[in-house]
Amino acid sequence: MSVIVPQPGILDIAPYVGGQSYLAGVENVVKLSSNENPFGPSPKAMEAFSRAVRQLHRYPSTDHASLRAALGEVHGIDAGRIVCGVGSDEILHLLCQAYVGPGDEVVHTEHGFAIYRIAALSAGGTPVSVPERERVTDVDALLAACTPKTKLVFIANPNNPTGTMIGTGDLARLADGLPAGAMLVLDGAYAEYVEGYDGGIGLIASRGNVFMTRTFSKLYGLGGLRVGWGYGPAEVIDVLNRIRGPFNLSEAQLAAAEAALRDDEHIQRSLSENTRNRAWLAEALMEKGVPSDTSCANFVLARFASADEALACDAWLKQEGLIVRPVASYNLPNCLRITVGDEASCRRVAHAIGNFKDVGR
Ligand SMILES: *Cc1c(COP(=O)(O)O)cnc(C)c1O
Repeated sequence: MSVIVPQPGILDIAPYVGGQSYLAGVENVVKLSSNENPFGPSPKAMEAFSRAVRQLHRYPSTDHASLRAALGEVHGIDAGRIVCGVGSDEILHLLCQAYVGPGDEVVHTEHGFAIYRIAALSAGGTPVSVPERERVTDVDALLAACTPKTKLVFIANPNNPTGTMIGTGDLARLADGLPAGAMLVLDGAYAEYVEGYDGGIGLIASRGNVFMTRTFSKLYGLGGLRVGWGYGPAEVIDVLNRIRGPFNLSEAQLAAAEAALRDDEHIQRSLSENTRNRAWLAEALMEKGVPSDTSCANFVLARFASADEALACDAWLKQEGLIVRPVASYNLPNCLRITVGDEASCRRVAHAIGNFKDVGR
């Protein structure tokens, strides 16, 4: 009897591991492992979601026109060049499915988001990991890694899990230096956290080889809803629309995302609290001998003296009911990624790390 065999590359994928969310036997747990908004979803998004329940017998919109129009209006971009997906994860996968096959290379940074490698392998392509410079995207190294086989170059800006980012000039230099037939994909999951940064919209306006992905999972507090979107050249949008599921997003998802997009009060509060608590947390950790790079996102990458110390601190925090994210799988074994929670959570985690540093070793 023959056994069915998957496509080449699939069995090279290490399944994605999400942030832990519970601790056996520990109450009052604080989850700081998945970069979720500590203030939850927008109340307006919750109302919109509830209203959609009455229409569950209806198939949803296939063109997502209403959400795209809202995104176009809020970001000042052409709604016709937006595609919506089941989280930005789906957009990343669709890009690989559409443009990558056996023999093609997908370039990503050393500490880049795990999904880039997974999506490249899913499509039969070859992921190429490029070193960073002190945990910062290195444009020269990326350009040097490109070959005629390169199809996609994935950069998260700001990056997860490092929290660092590069400027628009460097991004332009990267886009302009790519080989013909390759496209730069700017993952803007954390773009909203950076004042004055457009996520790459300006670069896309003047180039045909740049694409941007965005998400409702982080600032908008809707990680559980699963809505993301992409914006880029019209031909690319057309290609992705041919392969995505026509009913990939439910009306509840579409309506809740649109309501969240327009809830300025919730957005502004989430932003200002993140900025304030992030600065406080980084400073408090520094005082306890745990440095971090200046973060441009909603988490801090805390650096310990060694991988052993990071592991021991993680175990210590778990005992205290605090879940953070070990990032050894991102080739950062001496670091822990800590989501910026509300003020009380930041104080709790800083206090616990202080205790660990004093007595825990
Ligand atoms: C969280 C995150 C995303 C968002 O994924 P969704 O599928 O939209 O929830 C994308 N890229 C990076 C780098 C992230 O950290």
